[in-house]
Amino acid sequence: MKTDIEIAQESVMQPIAEIAEKLGMSADDIELYGKYKAKLSEDYIESLEDKPEGKLVLVTAINPTPAGEGKTTVTVGLGEAMPKIGENAVIALREPSMGPVMGIKGGAAGGGYAQVVPMEDINLHFTGDMHAITAANNLLSAAIDNHIHQGNKLMIDLRQITWKRCLDMNDRALREVIIGLGGKINGFPRQDGFNITVASEIMAILCLAKNIDDLRERIGRIVIGYNLSGEPVTAKQLEVEGAMTLLLHDAIKPNLVQTLENTPCLMHGGPFANIAHGCNSIRATRAGLKLADYCITEAGFGSDLGAEKFFDIKCRFAGLNPDCVVLVATVKALKYNSGQIKGEALKYENLEALSLGINNLGKHIENMRKYGVPVVVAINRFDTDTDAELDFIENYCAEKNVKCSMCEVFAKGGDGGVDLAKKVVETIKSEPSEFKPIYNVNLPIKEKIETIAREIYGADGVTYTATANRQILNLTNLGFDKMPVCMAKTQYSLSDDPSLLGRPSGFDITIREVNVSSGAGFIVALTGAVMTMPGLPKVPAANNMDIDRNGTIVGLF
Ligand code: ADP
Ligand code: MG
Repeated sequence: MKTDIEIAQESVMQPIAEIAEKLGMSADDIELYGKYKAKLSEDYIESLEDKPEGKLVLVTAINPTPAGEGKTTVTVGLGEAMPKIGENAVIALREPSMGPVMGIKGGAAGGGYAQVVPMEDINLHFTGDMHAITAANNLLSAAIDNHIHQGNKLMIDLRQITWKRCLDMNDRALREVIIGLGGKINGFPRQDGFNITVASEIMAILCLAKNIDDLRERIGRIVIGYNLSGEPVTAKQLEVEGAMTLLLHDAIKPNLVQTLENTPCLMHGGPFANIAHGCNSIRATRAGLKLADYCITEAGFGSDLGAEKFFDIKCRFAGLNPDCVVLVATVKALKYNSGQIKGEALKYENLEALSLGINNLGKHIENMRKYGVPVVVAINRFDTDTDAELDFIENYCAEKNVKCSMCEVFAKGGDGGVDLAKKVVETIKSEPSEFKPIYNVNLPIKEKIETIAREIYGADGVTYTATANRQILNLTNLGFDKMPVCMAKTQYSLSDDPSLLGRPSGFDITIREVNVSSGAGFIVALTGAVMTMPGLPKVPAANNMDIDRNGTIVGLF
């Protein structure tokens, strides 16, 4: 079987100007980054304002497992299948972070015959958005330490600086660092740390900002830490919000690329799905809705994290109205959710494990219905799946009265997604969405957390550590309570315990820490130790990568 990069390298891309032209754009509406990548110009995005919007389809999934689910693959395949049934579609996806690309094998641009290209560029420097975000983030860090060095007029408490530096690389050695060593001219020594760029608040802000003015406004609101009286200190007080916005003026423009079958894809922004909201920029999704009858987008991890935040944070902020949810499941992941088998054993037919694990799918279907959005289940077919197993899932969905489609886009591209495309279109035409977020944003912080825990995770209740209680009180007193909550939780379980697979019950969620991302506009509730700077594995994917003198890349998946 061919690798993803071999398939991608065999593809014939159309010049991106032609893809843009098919969407009704002229040469002036795009800014070219080589022949196959472009950004939409600011004027063009503004000109879309009054255009009618198409239908919004969210691709999400059951709880992820090491066996892989394939949300991006299904998103891309569905976008490729739409033209085959006479519908036009634009895909909106996150752009990959280079850290995981160099770390664990597995791209972020789809797989098999359902990929976005040029995948080499997309997975590496792309159009430089990550670097711009890194620079803006680190300008703020430099401004903080310089302010302290120059006399600390704002009385910033060196022990209470929450803003960290960032880098788009998996580098565990940078998680905790001491900076400012070496004497008086190097500033005041203090403890600092690095996030991976996609975990920085700047990334979340870029993805939520409506336009450049909103971007500046949000950057200004960033709380970098506290002064000696315990009051928040903002980026605006350090007077760098203008320069940070300037560094991001290109990064805020959505990128246009294409799939292997030349479906347009807006790939823009990629916030972590744990401490941030895990979906592409509002601007890219909005543009997608204006440019085609269907905009198909993905949210990270399982629906308990990705879709919940997509609905309760992104859709709420942007006033988006999702029309259909595609819920991706795989035979292997459902068997894994039985808690009885893993590894090699997942490749063999096992109806007993499937029947034990399938209640995970059941809970995700119920959850999506709570938001009032119709659901279609997509079984992402692997070549090890047996007919009996696929029939079992189809029957389960029929019992739950939910449409189900066997999706073979990995092996066949758009042709393998025609049935799914038909079912999505049929659902949108026959079942109007009655979307509503799961909680009222004006409720007290604890009530918002408890609603998510009970309704979405299936928890009995929530317990709070003393630290979390103190922080909630403090944030409420500072007026930071009327914001959506961004939950940071393990993706592997509906609960906060990664070992509880399937559909756990009789558990409580523990909230350990509660912080504010006031620029992004949400409160982050952490249920466990959350990793914001990953490390590399024993044999990093980087060890197998190379390029020859003809420019042929190897080892990039
Ligand atoms: P997600 O978006 O859910 O993280 P991806 O679509 O990125 O998942 O897929 C994860 C990995 O699984 C990729 O390397 C992809 O090539 C592979 N994959 C996805 N679907 C299939 C399939 N049907 N058969 C084999 N491999 C697949
Ligand atoms: Mg993905």
